[in-house]
Amino acid sequence: MDSFRIISFFTLPQNIGASCVRMDEKILGKQRAMRKAKQVLYGMAKRIGGFEWARRKTKRCLRILCYHGFAVANETDFRPKLFISRDTFRRRLDLLNEYRFPVISLNEALTGLYEDTLPENAVVLTIDDGFWSVLAQAVPILKHHGFPATVYVTTYYSQKETPIFRLAVQYLFWGTTVRKADLAEMIGKDWRKVNLEDPVEKNRAQWAIIEYGEENCTEPKRQDLCRDLARVLQMDYPFLEKTRILSLLNFTEIASLERDGLDFQLHTHRHRFPDSNESLAKQEIQDNRAALQGVIRKPLKHFCYPSGVWAFHQRHWLKDLGIQSATTCDVGLNDKSIHPMGLRRFLDGENISQIEFEAEITGFADLIRRFSGKAGPL
Ligand SMILES: [Zn+2]
Repeated sequence: MDSFRIISFFTLPQNIGASCVRMDEKILGKQRAMRKAKQVLYGMAKRIGGFEWARRKTKRCLRILCYHGFAVANETDFRPKLFISRDTFRRRLDLLNEYRFPVISLNEALTGLYEDTLPENAVVLTIDDGFWSVLAQAVPILKHHGFPATVYVTTYYSQKETPIFRLAVQYLFWGTTVRKADLAEMIGKDWRKVNLEDPVEKNRAQWAIIEYGEENCTEPKRQDLCRDLARVLQMDYPFLEKTRILSLLNFTEIASLERDGLDFQLHTHRHRFPDSNESLAKQEIQDNRAALQGVIRKPLKHFCYPSGVWAFHQRHWLKDLGIQSATTCDVGLNDKSIHPMGLRRFLDGENISQIEFEAEITGFADLIRRFSGKAGPL
């Protein structure tokens, strides 16, 4: 049996109730207002020289940026935190150029950080998961700038060469305009009349399909489930397969990109790193390493926690496996006091405005977090 539980890829909470939906709308409204105010504040700070001051103040800190997928079609509407458009990505790298921030490799940056030889305002680009769009969209822009990047690749779907099941199900539910669906043939008679106009019911149905597929099906069966679901929801599943917008790089592509200078590192095989099961967590890295070792020539010694979920005791497990650094999704800059298994990053995506990005890379946003006591432990 090829069943598994794969963690996140930035998934929504599972059993969301009606009150949660209403509360989410309230919270979202408040968050939008706060974000708007933050952008106004950043604009003012930039005009009076705050960004320039922050850049000087944080010049010895390492900035690590994190990307995931690069949009080919409408992925930024589907998941703006997970995907970024080519134009936005290009504007980000142009800005790093304008600031003359040196973009260096992860290896060089870590040596520089801990040996005190880091160039001022150094930046590292990291890309999580290894979406196919790295090759199609990101690489030409990276090459144009001559910037290095590290891709943390999760290998299960590189091996299978199919769309990521959980994301595909979510994409089909997100994109459908069908109002009522009969899912009984897929997940049982309780799901004969699903009202897709009700967000709570729609969410429950989506998770019922995901759970059924992940717990009971082989990968080919999961793909059959996606095709059946697409038919019911009147969505175009062959479009997802053909465009590969929710697929990962295969091993031939990984090998070719490595020869081209891209750095590939570890991100577990099935995108999971349980903190309560040492042997399973270690097995995930061993499987990930075994899958990559056939195609990657450089040492695999850097790691990225899937979904940024980590615990202090896991640092020992990583050390046992010869891992030298690990990146989190904790926001912030890195100085030499930061533990190499707890490196901070800034997660960039289509949801981030250019002024927010600028506030992050100049260090202004991090200084604000430190002054307000919101920076995490080192
Ligand atoms: Zn990931």
